[in-house]
Amino acid sequence: MTDVELSRELCDFIAQSPSMFHTVASISRRLDEAGFTRLAEGNAWELERGGSYYVVRNGSSLIAFKVGSNLAPDAPFQMAAAHSDSPTFKVKQVAELEGPADTLRLNVEGYGGMLDAMWFDRPLGIAGRVVVRTDDHRLESRLVASGGPVALIPNVAIHQNREANKGFAYNHQVDLCPLFSAGELTAGSFEQLVAQMAGVAPECVLGRDLYLVNLTAPQVWGWKEEFVSSPKLDDLQCVFAVLKAFVEAVNNASITVFGCFDNEEVGSRSRQGALSTFLREALQRVSAALGRTDEEHLRAIARSFLVSCDNAHAVHPNHPELFDAQNRARMNGGVVIKEAASGTYTTDALGRAVFTALCQEAGVPVQTFANRSDSRGGSTLGNLSNTQVSVHAVDVGLAQLAMHSSYETAGIKDTGYLMRALAAFYAAPLNIDEGEAISCVW
Ligand code: ZN
Repeated sequence: MTDVELSRELCDFIAQSPSMFHTVASISRRLDEAGFTRLAEGNAWELERGGSYYVVRNGSSLIAFKVGSNLAPDAPFQMAAAHSDSPTFKVKQVAELEGPADTLRLNVEGYGGMLDAMWFDRPLGIAGRVVVRTDDHRLESRLVASGGPVALIPNVAIHQNREANKGFAYNHQVDLCPLFSAGELTAGSFEQLVAQMAGVAPECVLGRDLYLVNLTAPQVWGWKEEFVSSPKLDDLQCVFAVLKAFVEAVNNASITVFGCFDNEEVGSRSRQGALSTFLREALQRVSAALGRTDEEHLRAIARSFLVSCDNAHAVHPNHPELFDAQNRARMNGGVVIKEAASGTYTTDALGRAVFTALCQEAGVPVQTFANRSDSRGGSTLGNLSNTQVSVHAVDVGLAQLAMHSSYETAGIKDTGYLMRALAAFYAAPLNIDEGEAISCVW
């Protein structure tokens, strides 16, 4: 498959994943097609060597794993993880703002740290999940999406706001209320739309988690087709690449794991985020179901490795001064290894060395990123997950521009680079030994 074809498939994947709930549904569909068995946390797990499984928490986080057919009792978990959510706006429970005049607007609040300006003047859909009453004593969660645009946040014209180009600060409660109707619809219409999307009467919708979606179409562009631009490249570009590598990989000596966690953009502190018990408990249950003792499980954890995948900043052509002069990454330059002395990235010498060696064997170029020493930078999921499941790890990502814009830009070649790097990682039977000095062979 060419880089352009792969990027078009990535665009389709993102278009099919308008909310974190839809992202997990898109992943589940691909795993089902690949013959994985879905497990539930509330049921007993019966696992077989050579089997492939996945489990979902909250409909928005997912852990999939493949059990090697020839496992040692302390065989490691070889894991890669990314996140399902992106910055957006969540619709409040009382959703409508009536007026001025006969307009209806939506009452929304920010989810994550977005670039506000990029939410104006573009077609917005609504997507997420609702919980509906289907019978006297039965509630059911349903995915909903408006399909087409149903809202738009209009800018104030330059004639009314001469400060607009001089660093104007937007107020979320005032400036970022999406227009829903200008006279055609009356109060209660939003609830009717939600009910229609869910296929029930409005009074049957008892709870909802709904988000705005930028419906600007993803596309490959450039005279030489160098770029791909889309909403939510952070972090669905990584989710897509890791998932494809994971599904294809064969490793009889390890348990390979793919994780996709919700709520990274709001600190991962939730029942299903990277700071939750989800991964720790899933791994414990895998070991238990395979008949491993607690001691064997802890030995396996000590030998395990996590590749934490979250997009990285490409050097900005208009503002190269914002980047460290040496530790900077460019689009189409290969997988970026991220490192920070503060520990916000998990990368250390061993993590970097293991990942670099595998990339060398796979012919995948690697780059490095560090923040300017006078700037705080962002965070990600690897170091948070490591507070629950402490394993050797590396933080990587793909170089992109305009992170947390509602329309981001990345290089056409990098998705394939990450896929090939992760294919090499998943296939290598890693054996990390921390006995005398740390060593790793495969
Ligand atoms: Zn991210």
